[in-house]
Amino acid sequence: TQLKSSNLKLLGMLVTLIFGGNQGDRKTLIGEAITEMSSIGKIELCSSLYETAPWGFESSDSFYNQIVTYETNLLPEEVLDKCQATEQKLGRVRSGTQFCSRTMDIDILFCDSQIINTPRLTVPHPRLAQRNFVLAPLNEIMPAFIHPVIHKNIATLLAECTDTLKAEIIGKKYVTFPEDSE
Ligand code: AMP
Repeated sequence: TQLKSSNLKLLGMLVTLIFGGNQGDRKTLIGEAITEMSSIGKIELCSSLYETAPWGFESSDSFYNQIVTYETNLLPEEVLDKCQATEQKLGRVRSGTQFCSRTMDIDILFCDSQIINTPRLTVPHPRLAQRNFVLAPLNEIMPAFIHPVIHKNIATLLAECTDTLKAEIIGKKYVTFPEDSE
């Protein structure tokens, strides 16, 4: 049992987050949010930066989106707390409507292959399979990942998605690590 416990290197949960915003200095804000969220754990995967059309409402201000996977020892609800604290810190003003302009929105897409349905949290994110702006960057970093509810991989979901809204790469794997800023 001595041997067993020393072999037990517990891997944390892989949590996949999507960052988005269509107000202010969008690129800088996403970089700041990704860095701020690094307090939950190490970055494992990072998509390019995408420019995407607003989904569900009319606006002339396009969104920037980026998807990052972190390895964390936190629980899903603790990750959500950190997402919401980061949204607040980066100045999001909640207008009350569901789809609206915002400086920073951070949603949890996946927590490993867990299925979570609590009052605060639905994981996998319920609408991700209908949205190009989620599937395009996801397909870049984890095309073979199988959606635990739909039982299809990301590449298939993207190929089958009927969303016609634009999602194009505007920056390569952009992420600001704290040590880069010196
Ligand atoms: P929104 O204003 O669209 O960012 O939605 C925020 C609300 O969605 C919060 O009250 C969260 O508790 C809830 N929520 C449910 N599932 C998720 C998820 N997978 N990621 C982020 N927020 C979630």
